[in-house]
This record gives sequence, structure tokens and C-alpha cells, in this order.
Amino acid sequence: MAVMKFVPEALKNLFKPPVTTSYPFEPAEYPERARGHISIDIDNCIGCGMCVRACPLGALKVDKNAGTWEIDRFDCVVCGYCAEKCPKKCLHVIPGYQTPEREKEGVLYKKSEEALKAEAEKKAEAARKAAEAKAAMEAKKKAEEEAKAEG
Ligand code: SF4
Ligand code: SF4
Repeated sequence: MAVMKFVPEALKNLFKPPVTTSYPFEPAEYPERARGHISIDIDNCIGCGMCVRACPLGALKVDKNAGTWEIDRFDCVVCGYCAEKCPKKCLHVIPGYQTPEREKEGVLYKKSEEALKAEAEKKAEAARKAAEAKAAMEAKKKAEEEAKAEG
């Protein structure tokens, strides 16, 4: 008789869609606040290292000169502190998981050639302006000294 208790439930389920999905053949649907992984918009990264200092697990490495940002996804617990601290808002906690790896090593992101070129041009322009300002200052100082000597 105990079996009879399950009959209505079994009949009901016969006409419902399955609760499972066909992942990976169909894309998975993640809950709105799912913490999948950290993504980076690397071309907007300024290499300030705020994320590295914020990470409690030491899962990040940044090389400003090389334009690289590296994350060890085995160490990252997706707490989101790095994304909170990033001044350029180029880090995001997004749903979806990364492909599993066999080797425990970091994933390296490198700025595009265009971004590196634009940065180098910006640096050169800033250096040129600084040199011009210094030269103008020195010329002014020299002119003042000469005027003083004459007067
Ligand atoms: S999400 Fe947390 S653990 Fe992962 S890299 Fe950012 S600060 Fe570190
Ligand atoms: S905090 Fe943001 S801008 Fe600074 S190094 Fe990290 S990712 Fe780049």
C-alpha cells in the first residue's frame, strides 16, 4: 500500500519537463548572483596592483611594464575583493565556470598590441611635455638671473 502514495507524484511527473539539463550540449543557466569566475578587460588595466594587494589568497600577479595580468584559478575563491578594489572597474565577477585544468598554473592575460602602443605613445607625449616644461622653466630662470646681473 505504501507504493500507492507515490502514484500521484509519479503520474504528475510524467507530464512535466525534466528538471535536469543537457549541459554541455545546451548552455547552462546560472542564478543571477552566481559567482563563476573573475574576468578582466585587460586593455583597460593600468597595472596599479590594487587587485594584487586586495587578494587574500595571493592568486594574482601584475606586471605593469609587460602589460600582463595573471590569475591562479586554483587559488581564487571568487570572493570579488579584487573587482571591488579595481579603480578602472576592469575586473568582474561573472557567472559560468572555466574549463577544468590538469596543471596548477596561472592564466596569463596580455594587453593587445594596440593598447600597448597607445600607452607607449601617451608616455612619450607626457615625457615630451615634461621636458618642454623643464626647458621653459630653466630658460625663465636664466633670463631672470641675466636681468639681475645687468641691473
Ligand atoms: S576573487 Fe578573491 S580570491 Fe579571486 S583573485 Fe579576486 S580577490 Fe583573489
Ligand atoms: S586593480 Fe584593476 S587596473 Fe589595477 S592592476 Fe588590477 S586589474 Fe589592473
